[in-house]
Amino acid sequence: MKLDLHVHTTASDGAWSPEDVTRTAAARGLDALAVTDHDTTAGCAAALALGADLNLQIIPGIEVSSSHAGRDIHVLGYFVDPAATELREHERVARNRREERMREMLAKLEGLGIEVPFEAVERAAGPDRVVLGRPHLAQALVEGGHVASISEAFDTLIADSGPAFVSTHMLTPMDAIGIIEAAGGLAVWAHPPGELVQDLIDPMVEAGLRGMEVYRPRNRRDQMLRLENICRSRGLFPTGGSDWHGPDGGAQLGDFFVTSDEVATFLDAGGL
Ligand code: AMP
Ligand code: ZN
Ligand code: FE
Ligand code: FE
Repeated sequence: MKLDLHVHTTASDGAWSPEDVTRTAAARGLDALAVTDHDTTAGCAAALALGADLNLQIIPGIEVSSSHAGRDIHVLGYFVDPAATELREHERVARNRREERMREMLAKLEGLGIEVPFEAVERAAGPDRVVLGRPHLAQALVEGGHVASISEAFDTLIADSGPAFVSTHMLTPMDAIGIIEAAGGLAVWAHPPGELVQDLIDPMVEAGLRGMEVYRPRNRRDQMLRLENICRSRGLFPTGGSDWHGPDGGAQLGDFFVTSDEVATFLDAGGL
């Protein structure tokens, strides 16, 4: 079995609708796909409906934003109930906070002499998005002629360490795990930053963390081995996914996948 356990849609900052993502995943030979938008499950229902027709197993998911020491920590939730009260409430809070945070980043940019109207970010985000994210801002920066490319926008301005970055600052990683558990899901630490693992692994495991994302397109072998070892010693399951946001990154959906052998313990925990 080929699985991709980390994909975004137009419900957050992905380029393709849940239907297009689902159709393409099936056509490209994936057997299972997790829809994991930032702070919303709005894309799950359409993917689940179409996946059933196409014989593609859709895992309803979410990627919850949290912060620690000024850095953003993402926690994936798998097999959540997309309609759970806790997630609806989180989505409402996140939508507001992400809008406020976007205005804070625009103010920082203004301080750097770069004027981007909020409406330009909204336009870049499109009509289906539930939450605003940095890729929308990056696109608005390109369209405004301030940078030549999305990657230049991140590299010079809005990457985690960039001069116009503002953290989402709404939950701790432990809170994020709690929300996912309350929605019936399995919490998995997305792309764990190496330098923060020591700090956070104990409290996150204590809060109910079940797995860590190990297999990613750009992870080096030594990074993956280190994460695999931590999973083994902590009783966490390893997962993996492409974190695909659209074709602009150069990769196609389905280029990267994990096998059912690699994520067997995750599939067991999820009852698949
Ligand atoms: P946000 O949740 O608003 O902080 O945005 C996070 C998203 O920004 C990630 O899911 C990626 O799509 C994108 N992103 C973060 N860092 C970079 C980077 N250095 N280069 C390109 N895209 C990035
Ligand atoms: Zn994203
Ligand atoms: Fe992420
Ligand atoms: Fe992601």
